[in-house]
Amino acid sequence: MLAYLDHHASTPCDPAVVDAMAPWWSEQCANPSSRGHRPGLAAAAAVEQARARVTEALGGGPAEVVFTSGATEANNLALKGVAEAALERGEPRRRLVSVVTEHRAVLDPLRYLERHGFPLTLLPVGSDGLVDPQRLEEALTPEVLLLSVMAANNEIGVLQPITAMAERCRRQGVLLHVDAAQAAGHIPLSLAVLGADLLSVSGHKCYGPKGVGALLRRPGLALAPQLHGGGQEGGLRGGTVAVPLVVGLGEALRRAEADRPARASRLGALRDQLWSGLEALGGIRCNGAGAPRLPHNLNVTVDGVDGAALHRLLRRRLAVSSGSACSQGSPSHVLAALGHSRAEAAASIRFGLGRGTTAAEVAVAIDAVAEALRQLRG
Ligand SMILES: *Cc1c(COP(=O)(O)O)cnc(C)c1O
Repeated sequence: MLAYLDHHASTPCDPAVVDAMAPWWSEQCANPSSRGHRPGLAAAAAVEQARARVTEALGGGPAEVVFTSGATEANNLALKGVAEAALERGEPRRRLVSVVTEHRAVLDPLRYLERHGFPLTLLPVGSDGLVDPQRLEEALTPEVLLLSVMAANNEIGVLQPITAMAERCRRQGVLLHVDAAQAAGHIPLSLAVLGADLLSVSGHKCYGPKGVGALLRRPGLALAPQLHGGGQEGGLRGGTVAVPLVVGLGEALRRAEADRPARASRLGALRDQLWSGLEALGGIRCNGAGAPRLPHNLNVTVDGVDGAALHRLLRRRLAVSSGSACSQGSPSHVLAALGHSRAEAAASIRFGLGRGTTAAEVAVAIDAVAEALRQLRG
């Protein structure tokens, strides 16, 4: 049995979501922008229903939803869109603030903007993965345009206190973008309650299809489009809307919200079992231990073993990773930010439990690590 415990890299698409998408591939093929005939109007109605479901799942609004190809594109639209809009209206605020443990889909656009006249401050985190509130306070100077902070970390599952950060931002006149790719459908989340201006989500991280996501925007917030042509999505994202995929995203978020509380408590209990089993093996530390975390996440560092050898042994029975799927080859910048060496980061295991995870799979995971340690530690 191979246990798939890499749900932070991607989740299986819910079969009910696949069913909901089915008619929109071939049977109902019309372009949702074709308002001159009934099939086109039906496609447009399906897109609007999906939009309503996304809003509903993320707190009910007020929020505008822009469909994108995923959270990467949503992050790019949020960050470059805010920066360009500020440039166009001659806004004196230019500085962007974020955190060293963000996903590359935030860090890379921010570094791009830094090369184009938007100075960047990256806040460090403590050994628990949390931003020091005092450091944040000091960083939010009058020259700051926007703060970007992820709701839940994709490697260590740590949850930053977004609501408190949003309050600080409001006081300082700073915009707030939240990358919620790992949080949507997993923890309670609402653009309005959080007090965020922009929020990114991804279909394949919440039991929906790959290749679709959304950016939620506070109504009225100025954003410059990053994909020109066609005028779709209120002029913010040109290109024919991917009807089957956005229908899938809406259905996936609706279903993820429906079973979220029960799933979170079941997976939290399984995650705790996994940790007790691993802790008992000795020489294993839990990353982000002191901080609030996603219930289905566990990230550990194994002392005194070679990371490559460890993962070679685990591969036989487990689908897990040592870091983000998006930065294969380089050591995790998240674990480095917690103070880990390259070797320690390599000898780390990220477990991501999911809707289909069973107690038997958790037992396999504990046994696979125990067996690997017997071989490696001798
Ligand atoms: C997966 C992920 C992304 C990228 O999402 P895609 O939809 O695959 O582009 C961005 N941010 C975080 C935190 C993620 O986990």
